[in-house]
Amino acid sequence: MRDELIRATADQGRIRFIGARTTHLVSTAQQKHQTWPVASAALGRTLTAAALMGSMLKAEDRVTLRILGDGPLGAIVAQGDAKGQVRGYVQNPTIELPPTPEGKLDVGRGVGKEGHLHVTRDLGLKDTFTGTSALVSGEIAEDLTHYFFTSEQTPSAVALGVLIDVDGSVLKAGGYILQLMPGADDETIDLLEQCIARLGPISKYLAAGKSTKEMMEDLLGELDPKVLNSYEPEFYCGCDRERLSTLLKSFGPDELADMRREQGGAEAICHFCSEKYQFSADELLAWEQEMRET
Ligand SMILES: [Zn+2]
Repeated sequence: MRDELIRATADQGRIRFIGARTTHLVSTAQQKHQTWPVASAALGRTLTAAALMGSMLKAEDRVTLRILGDGPLGAIVAQGDAKGQVRGYVQNPTIELPPTPEGKLDVGRGVGKEGHLHVTRDLGLKDTFTGTSALVSGEIAEDLTHYFFTSEQTPSAVALGVLIDVDGSVLKAGGYILQLMPGADDETIDLLEQCIARLGPISKYLAAGKSTKEMMEDLLGELDPKVLNSYEPEFYCGCDRERLSTLLKSFGPDELADMRREQGGAEAICHFCSEKYQFSADELLAWEQEMRET
């Protein structure tokens, strides 16, 4: 089944729904970064959130989620945009933790319960907005629910799930964000809570192999959902040699000379996708000369 993201409204616009299956996207990230299970789950949930939140933006805008907890995973960063292009990384991709008493991957311990979630929206070249909230559990969906409520004053239900196979590969991934828009009454809220409870844990739901549309209908069937648009989100970095060379050049001519002499060139790795770029000694020398002349 293809990955799919659906944006919809229900209850005459008083509810916003964004749901997605992100199995291929998360699986691509797992392979690129060679993450181990706890990191795969934590990064996968964050990437899914970035895909969902990217769909709330306009054409050229971009959202960046940064989860900075005190757990062994370190920083988790994910970016998404309105075209469904998502990329991200986790600082320590190969940590191992014992499972929770329920036998689940202990994402909360991996992320840490102390720390912050930062959400930055780049609105074209015009403006950047950052909102911050404290982490609640490190389980990411809960932290994001808390963020929406405290930082954006929007009551939301967030569910994010990643299922990892015994061999460490990604079996299923997906999630949804439900938000109450102004005008939603108590009756709607009650009904919505019942629907969320009926759907149950998202990982279990994903395991059943349902489509995003089925997810929407199971959640909002009684509230007259209307699809606004849908598309296929994907892992896409967009880095290239040019961009990475800019990063290398920022070290300055002396550092470049050291790299050239000691390593016979330089290798730059893109954080977001782990792609490696090689630069020859000749290239470094040309930059040095350029820099020293100007
Ligand atoms: Zn990249």
